[in-house]
Amino acid sequence: MATTHVPTELEALSGKPIAPASELAGRFPLTPSAHPASAERYEKVMSELAFGREFTDHMAHMRWTRDGGWEDRGVIPYGPLTLTPGASVLHYAQSVFEGLKAYRHADGSIWTFRPTYNAARLNHSARRLALPEMDVEDFVASLVDYVRADAKWVPEGDGTSLYLRPFMFASEEFVGVHPAGVVDYYVIGSPSGPYFTSGFTGVPIWVVKGYHRAGPGGTGSAKCGGNYAASLMPQTRAAEKGFSQVCFLDSYEEKYLEELGGMNMFVVMADGSVRTPELTGVILEGGTRSAICRLLRDEGVDVREERIALDELVAGMRSGEVAEVFACGTAAVVTPITRLAGDDFDVELPVGERTKRIHQRLTDIQLGRAEDPYGWMYRID
Ligand SMILES: *Cc1c(COP(=O)(O)O)cnc(C)c1O
Repeated sequence: MATTHVPTELEALSGKPIAPASELAGRFPLTPSAHPASAERYEKVMSELAFGREFTDHMAHMRWTRDGGWEDRGVIPYGPLTLTPGASVLHYAQSVFEGLKAYRHADGSIWTFRPTYNAARLNHSARRLALPEMDVEDFVASLVDYVRADAKWVPEGDGTSLYLRPFMFASEEFVGVHPAGVVDYYVIGSPSGPYFTSGFTGVPIWVVKGYHRAGPGGTGSAKCGGNYAASLMPQTRAAEKGFSQVCFLDSYEEKYLEELGGMNMFVVMADGSVRTPELTGVILEGGTRSAICRLLRDEGVDVREERIALDELVAGMRSGEVAEVFACGTAAVVTPITRLAGDDFDVELPVGERTKRIHQRLTDIQLGRAEDPYGWMYRID
């Protein structure tokens, strides 16, 4: 029995219709780079796709000021930023970001996935960090104009995409503490292959105690750099032990699962039901999480958003009651978790069929191999 689901605020906002790219294009006029990548570098980057290390020739930009609002829209040459040492972001971390992908379909067209979801979430994050919100169509137009300018950098092939990174930060020169009066917004992009180079083989996760990425009333539900900064030290220690990511627990009791540093988690039970930690305001509301919940519910799967106790999860993994565990997010899509360990336990699971199926179902829609009954795909070019 599928449970009824009340759309979250982000889901509701992302469902609002938006103008097609042909109407939005041109809001960010192009100033072509005088120094685009050489043919040699282009070939090298596109044939050795990594994740997040190489960037394209251009970037989108606009600037917000307290008096003028958002202005100076443009797609400009990619390059170093000039930032005064007094810029408040360098001192108080007033900065938020998004992550989404541009996919090339078999017919050569370029698409992105639920850009209005990311727009709504950027505004949600901005509100929490006392940064200005932006018009949803401006957000989507910045992607359209940027990707159209650098369309040749959108790779073709399974698991590849142009990873898009919109971000916004306080650039006002002021070290007093107040919300910035000058804010810059950019979109950069990185031609990317699979996030985990080991492929669909599963990753080992360390469940950390004593450290948290976020807490009640904090910035956990905002996509802000500070949350990542807080996750790096425990992450590094886990990496030294051979684990690829850490899983954080609730900060009151260290009893319930929250999420990884940058991915949400799902548990597939042997009885076919699926569980994922409920949105408490501390975890980040992933678009991938939302899409997976929707796809599963529409297949009749019982998807429960609820508290998941670590000790019950570990016991279930041992008894066989828990069949599969996976993590999800835009960058890595769906990643099986094949080992979960902490101070006093260490359990393993195989890569599961249902995890594989969910990955296939979602990427088929994203890559245009399957119909998109949800209107999630947005054609950029
Ligand atoms: C971005 C992010 C996710 C995944 O969100 P998607 O919209 O699915 O990419 C999950 N957790 C954290 C902490 C994140 O920053």
